Amino acid sequence: MKWTTHEVENQVPELGDYNLYASDAALREAVVREGASAREQELTEYGAWLGTAEAADLARQANVNPPCAERFDRRGFRVDKVHFHPAWHIFMQKAFSHGMHCSAWTSTEPGPQVARAAFYLLHGQIEAGTLCPLTMTSAAIPLLGRETLYESLRPLLFSSRYDPSDAPLGAKTSMLVGMGMTEKQGGSDLRSVATRALPLGQGGRGANYSLIGHKWFFSVPTSDAHLVLAQHEEQHSCFYVPRWQPDGSLNRVHIQRLKDKLGNRSNASAEVEFVEAYGVLVGEPGRGIATLVEMASLTRLDCVLGSAALMRQALVQALHHANHRRAFGKRLIEQPLMRAVLADLALESEAATTLALRLARAFEGEGPLDLAYRRILTPAAKFWVCKRAVGLTAECMEVWGGNGYVEDGPMPRLFREAPVNAIWEGSGNVMCLDVLRGLRREPELAGALMDALVSESSDEPLLSQRAEQLATLASADEATQQGCARHIAQWLVLLVQANLLRRHAPAEVAEAFLKTRFGGQALALHGLADHAGAASALIRRAWYE
Ligand SMILES: Cc1cc2nc3c(=O)[nH]c(=O)nc-3n(C[C@H](O)[C@H](O)[C@H](O)COP(=O)(O)OP(=O)(O)OC[C@H]3O[C@@H](n4cnc5c(N)ncnc54)[C@H](O)[C@@H]3O)c2cc1C
Repeated sequence: MKWTTHEVENQVPELGDYNLYASDAALREAVVREGASAREQELTEYGAWLGTAEAADLARQANVNPPCAERFDRRGFRVDKVHFHPAWHIFMQKAFSHGMHCSAWTSTEPGPQVARAAFYLLHGQIEAGTLCPLTMTSAAIPLLGRETLYESLRPLLFSSRYDPSDAPLGAKTSMLVGMGMTEKQGGSDLRSVATRALPLGQGGRGANYSLIGHKWFFSVPTSDAHLVLAQHEEQHSCFYVPRWQPDGSLNRVHIQRLKDKLGNRSNASAEVEFVEAYGVLVGEPGRGIATLVEMASLTRLDCVLGSAALMRQALVQALHHANHRRAFGKRLIEQPLMRAVLADLALESEAATTLALRLARAFEGEGPLDLAYRRILTPAAKFWVCKRAVGLTAECMEVWGGNGYVEDGPMPRLFREAPVNAIWEGSGNVMCLDVLRGLRREPELAGALMDALVSESSDEPLLSQRAEQLATLASADEATQQGCARHIAQWLVLLVQANLLRRHAPAEVAEAFLKTRFGGQALALHGLADHAGAASALIRRAWYE
């Protein structure tokens, strides 16, 4: 007699190969609408590769085998190396081949920022740890572009041939750039940065300095250069600190240890010390914080994109699971309460994608609204979308029930990855305070933004009331604004999302967004609203049912 304890039933089949781009209607429509349709073929091809079991397994390997530091060689000489898993390099090589590190500035096709944003949104769904060095390198280009050393770096910054070797730039085909601001005593208040820079000669822009101090977070410490904030003459300036010195020796940026992080585990984030490290002053002397904050508006856009990516992947995984898993005699996706939750999650994901791509286009334009989106909407979106991603990934994990909590599935990694976008590049409160600063210091941009919101919202009573309130708050005194900074950032984003969806998404999507986000139903959790008849339309638009 065959002795069995049970049959395995009701476990969900593997998602299988699917195309991340072709299956995402909201993303495809946004790419065309925002002007990057020239890259659609390439996006489709990349979406197909990212959706393979091979890509998923490579991403898993890169994350379960995190990088490790080799600080000394066997004879005791410092080497300060980091060993990444080979799968990390595969994702880096793929990203380079699609220009994710530079094409926003080099592509001759229309919509360069939007196209790059779309690649980012696809790549980040499968392997998010590699996004950090791609973001930093891309965001450093405009800053470096104003310096004399740029001419020699240009071919390396714009090369599509990823080069993981640890060697002086003369021996490399491409380069990575990182950023070093945060120290032990603080990362938000950059005036507290204590690393000192001493001129090796006359000093000034383009001159050589010696840096002494530390950084508490210094991601991809083996990047070919970092842009580092340090003090000199009681002012802060920005320094280009290469991995190798001009004489061919390793620069004295000593890795102390790598962080053991909640998520983002494929990426290496180090604590380092500068022991008379070599650096070149870049940007205006004494304006280092402003220089790096300018770079940060680009990195904050990428945080929005990275969060939209995590949301989309978590949603796809949740919808696939609910489509197959049965409880109480029906598939989960057929249970009315689960449908309400899934529909709401789909709505959130579409709103994030739509906003992220519109925001990316703002980085191509020079009109007042584009500039206002860059300066004021970007930090608001970084605050709101990154926080919504944390709740959404948790909810999607719960759709999987207990299986969602287990490490051999995809949900824990998505969930653990989500909070980092909210924390780095300026945490939530700091983003909201930056929105207020933008409103105060750029009254013309603030005016253009509020006028646009009030006018776009005027035909819809639910929106027009909010838009008027927001416009009043936008010109309120500082004390009033400080008390409701999160409120301002939240409604700014929701109003822009609502108007984008009203203009571009199917009517069911726009109406559901209005009803749930503006109709007095709680925003605190996903799935509190009854989407009734619209649920089917929302779910089918997001995924196959
Ligand atoms: C995985 C990872 C990688 C990183 N990589 C890098 C890197 O490569 N380079 C780099 O420079 N940094 C890096 N960081 C650091 C990151 O940018 C900082 O952690 C972040 O900017 C916050 O700084 P902090 O940790 O010092 O927090 P703090 O500045 O101590 O802030 C703590 C909290 O207080 C809030 N807060 C601060 N000021 C105010 C205020 N005035 N009012 C209300 N609330 C306030 C903040 O929003 C935050 O929530 C990395 C961080 C992580 C997690």
